[in-house]
Amino acid sequence: MDCTAIVLAAGNSRRLNTETKKQYLDIGGMPVVAYSLQRFQKQEFIKRIVLVAGPEDIEYCQEQIVGRYGLTKVEQIVPGGEERYDSVYAGLRACSGTDTVFIHDGARPFISDELLAALYADVARYRACIAAVPVKDTIKISLDGNRIDRTPDRSTVWQAQTPQVFSYDLIRRAYRAASQAGAYGITDDASCVERYGNTPVHLTPGSYENIKITTREDLAVASVFAEKYTL
Ligand code: C5P
Repeated sequence: MDCTAIVLAAGNSRRLNTETKKQYLDIGGMPVVAYSLQRFQKQEFIKRIVLVAGPEDIEYCQEQIVGRYGLTKVEQIVPGGEERYDSVYAGLRACSGTDTVFIHDGARPFISDELLAALYADVARYRACIAAVPVKDTIKISLDGNRIDRTPDRSTVWQAQTPQVFSYDLIRRAYRAASQAGAYGITDDASCVERYGNTPVHLTPGSYENIKITTREDLAVASVFAEKYTL
């Protein structure tokens, strides 16, 4: 299987409110996004990496990340879009001809070789799989953010992580259909396949260390995990 990793780094970190965007913050001596890029670079089955960045950050990424960390598999740095969805679509358009894509949030630095190997095996079998963990807390659904409407059975609720991994043709078709339908509420790639892909998406056991850096508290946690994931 010819696999491409699409690493997303085009968000603007509204929830973190730091001067530097979260994907470029330094943890343990390295920018957040460099951790997952190095991990993909190391896998034999990953043939190339497409990095998606804000148009204003492309030069920085080329010099300070790709060049500095010797990421020779990064073949392209493409400009992202307004929403995560737009950035993924830009990444997908840049890798036509590949068999399989690993779509990953650059704000998640702590992915292991074991997780990538498990996803590789599962995508060969199911064509669509995502890293996920069971939720620890009870989840409440509230439509107005004030009154609880319902409580889903906790044993059926999973937290979606990335990498999310798909046959290229499947995910490209699903994104095209979503785009034609207006792409409303697509916050991850699995949801696109669930709606438009006509193929079940498999849950691959992820890890509670695979956090997405979103708020300030996450930075403190990240500094604890950083050493373990330094190559
Ligand atoms: O905003 P959120 O935390 O869900 O973003 C997840 C990932 O998607 C981050 O790595 C972020 O940089 C990326 N993203 C993107 N383009 C956007 C929005 C988010 O590449 N327009």
